[in-house]
Amino acid sequence: MKLGLFGRPVAHSFSPRLFARLARLLESPIEYAAVDVAPGALPEALASARARGWRGANVTIPYKLDAAALCARLTPQARVLGAVNVLRFEKSRVVGHNTDGEGLVDALKRAGVSVRGKRALVFGAGGAARAAAWALAKGGARSVRVSNRTASTARKLARDLAAAFPRTAFSAGRPNQADIWINATPLGQKGRPDLSPADAAPGAPAAAVDLVYGRRTPFQRQAAALGARVQDGGAMLVYQALRAWEFWDKPLGPARRARLAETLIKEIA
Ligand code: NAP
Repeated sequence: MKLGLFGRPVAHSFSPRLFARLARLLESPIEYAAVDVAPGALPEALASARARGWRGANVTIPYKLDAAALCARLTPQARVLGAVNVLRFEKSRVVGHNTDGEGLVDALKRAGVSVRGKRALVFGAGGAARAAAWALAKGGARSVRVSNRTASTARKLARDLAAAFPRTAFSAGRPNQADIWINATPLGQKGRPDLSPADAAPGAPAAAVDLVYGRRTPFQRQAAALGARVQDGGAMLVYQALRAWEFWDKPLGPARRARLAETLIKEIA
């Protein structure tokens, strides 16, 4: 199966390594190319990949929105999130999907974090925050507060998701008391400010998930000091990749998915 990744930059992406390892575990050979796409060149990159027989592709920053606009069909998740992180090339059309939300649902389940009836607080309002809000609402959160540096983006996120999930109370603004915290900003990531977005948040959460992976960040340290169960974004990263594979190939089923995830989390994330 021929696959790849579109983004800019792509040099430090985990995806080529992750999918190469997954393909070996599944004994299903792949070719996976990471393509650094120049601004404005995404349509040609897609056309060229299709002409070369790619089955599908991952999409990363900064093309998740542009890629959605180029799809003939979007899955319901991709439509609600307004962004795609995976494309499937069918004979006559491109189908766009988003597995970030599902990946977080899987990661929360793995960590034994139950979302149903809980109050959640999401830091950030970009693509990852939208996926986090989707996962929380899907899991039956009672409320989701979105707190972001740019207040208008947080308000838009809350409005958009409220329309899709009327049972969850979405709001935007300063951090409020919550059971679950999610960091969906890049704060604490390598090369970004070594700060926690939750500095001014009141109370203590029972659980905290940092979408940043591979590092112990100030957000994780703060949440741990408050007594929360803390996890980084490694499990979500692996699960969103497994879900992407299933979108290109066929469902793995819960048991096999979980076994593969444990191997990949240990080895790669
Ligand atoms: P994005 O669309 O660029 O959004 C970034 C968000 O963080 C925005 O809301 C932005 O606020 C906020 N932000 C950025 N710098 C900030 C700062 N210095 N102080 C306060 N807020 C700041 O990025 P994204 O795609 O949502 O990704 C966010 C993070 O999640 C990244 O670290 C990414 O690697 C991670 N992620 C992880 C996974 C996983 O599987 N683990 C999946 C997806 C993403 P403004 O609106 O004010 O700019």
